[in-house]
Amino acid sequence: MNYHILTLFPDMVLQGLNTSVIGRAMEKGVITVNAMNIRDYSGNKHNQVDDYPYGGGAGMVMQPGPVCDAYEALCRNLGKRPRVLYMTPQGRVFSQKIAQELAGEEDLVFLCGHYEGIDERALSLIVTDYLSVGDYVLTGGELPAMVMIDCISRLVPGVLNNDESALIESFSDNLLEYPQYTRPEIYEGLRVPEVLLSGHHKNIDTWRRQEAIRRTLERRPDLLEQAVLSKKEQAFLEEILRERACAQENIVIE
Ligand code: SAM
Repeated sequence: MNYHILTLFPDMVLQGLNTSVIGRAMEKGVITVNAMNIRDYSGNKHNQVDDYPYGGGAGMVMQPGPVCDAYEALCRNLGKRPRVLYMTPQGRVFSQKIAQELAGEEDLVFLCGHYEGIDERALSLIVTDYLSVGDYVLTGGELPAMVMIDCISRLVPGVLNNDESALIESFSDNLLEYPQYTRPEIYEGLRVPEVLLSGHHKNIDTWRRQEAIRRTLERRPDLLEQAVLSKKEQAFLEEILRERACAQENIVIE
């Protein structure tokens, strides 16, 4: 997977990504990160890339020329026109599902805006996807790009040591992950659940699935509508719902 980041702050993204799991993946060459400075395409001696908005209003807007020229230079270099993801609060909210879809690409371009954003004409000419990290406004697209690159990279084969660990995590099948425990066995009087010490793999799997269902119901019930549950798991979910309803009505279950 090759990431190309069009940004005014290349150092920020390179330094942010060059550590831990993603940094190791870069070292191994499983992923590459190419940060292109949009300012290098300003075409003027002051390296100016922004200007006042037509029609007035606060802030500055990034001009279309440098953004499009940076992308065209990249395309000439690559000999193809990769997908361009514009980081914007006006986009589709990024999710594990979108990450899975993007992980299948060979090259991805992340376009990072700053100030009041980018001239609409540049966006209409080169952007293929509008993506947001959530319903709040940041100062620039660099952090969103790093978030998405981190998430997508975990799904690229060879990035995680154990490829399986990405398969059974939160959101992988519309369930949050079960609780995790490590040594010591007792901490502050709190014991690790007995089943996890039993060595009985089938029981452990069943417990983990049930705890994933319970946790998803508590924290993200909206996800459960899309979760694929076996008949037994569905029955387990209905049992919890029944217990909850009874507790709310203060009925004692015999
Ligand atoms: N004026 C823009 C608007 O209201 O939609 C917001 C501009 S914001 C201050 C500057 C840049 O930060 C945007 O061009 C975008 O690249 C990035 N950005 C801000 N919030 C974001 C979010 N929630 N998701 C993705 N990118 C975001």
